[in-house]
Amino acid sequence: MTTAIGVVITDHVVSGRLQDQQLTGKPLRFPNDSQAQQTLGAMPASEMVEIIAGHISLLSKTASGEGAADLAAIGVAVPGIVLRGVVEESPNLKQLKGLRLAELLGAALAEHGVSAPVHLANDADAIAAGVAAARGRLNELIRVWTLGNGIGYGRWPYAEGVWEGGHITVSLDPKERYCGCGGVGHLEGIMGYRAMRMRFLDLEPEEVFANAKKGDARCREFVDLWHRALAAATASFIHLAGPGRFYFTGSNVGFVELPLLRSHLESMVRMSPLQNFSLEILPPDDETALIGAGVSALRALGTGNRG
Ligand SMILES: [Zn+2]
Repeated sequence: MTTAIGVVITDHVVSGRLQDQQLTGKPLRFPNDSQAQQTLGAMPASEMVEIIAGHISLLSKTASGEGAADLAAIGVAVPGIVLRGVVEESPNLKQLKGLRLAELLGAALAEHGVSAPVHLANDADAIAAGVAAARGRLNELIRVWTLGNGIGYGRWPYAEGVWEGGHITVSLDPKERYCGCGGVGHLEGIMGYRAMRMRFLDLEPEEVFANAKKGDARCREFVDLWHRALAAATASFIHLAGPGRFYFTGSNVGFVELPLLRSHLESMVRMSPLQNFSLEILPPDDETALIGAGVSALRALGTGNRG
């Protein structure tokens, strides 16, 4: 039996213990109900590391008296660009930028008497890994779009690289400059929640999508652009890595109209060997990324290959 611990950092922290790639017991959460007023956004990185180390320490000592020695790996899913244990960039948790998180967490865990390798994964990659593990598709190419304030792109199996799919250029219009990174014509500049608020100063994104349903021409036009942008980025990845399974999740996944997305995608992907793709919506949850973080950590060690 292989034991791992998965941790997901979003605007909160969720940690859980995995036994043979399955979540066991109740995940720990920060902030919990009694800490509801606290947010990660304003928290110093060192405090965040302590909270995560506390979670891991607790989880490593629970369940049938097994000790921390049985723990094979610790996986942490982080929003942003993660390379070799370092958070290179994290636009929504700026205090993490440049942090050698794997090393710092390892040191904090040592003080709790826990020693297991710490592996960092991008949050969208972790979701892709979680989907692959949960559906028995660890030998297939899985791609995930996460639609929220930012737009994330994740893939399984892990492939070294940056993979900032949310910043792929989908428009040559010089007026398309709402992306959080400042780049012109980016997918996130059209689809991201913050970008939509900047575009429609008079309407919230929820109102834009609701008005479009009621037939408002300006809103309908934008909703179409939103789907065409997602189709364009997806088509680009199909033309690079081939067709296959694409999943859509995140806090704004409710805005996705699959038939509209599919019709735009079909207009963009015309070569018949590339038309064998599938599109599926996943309700957002923390567990998928949590399992994926653990599975990625085990895979990085060269264990947990079964499945
Ligand atoms: Zn960008």
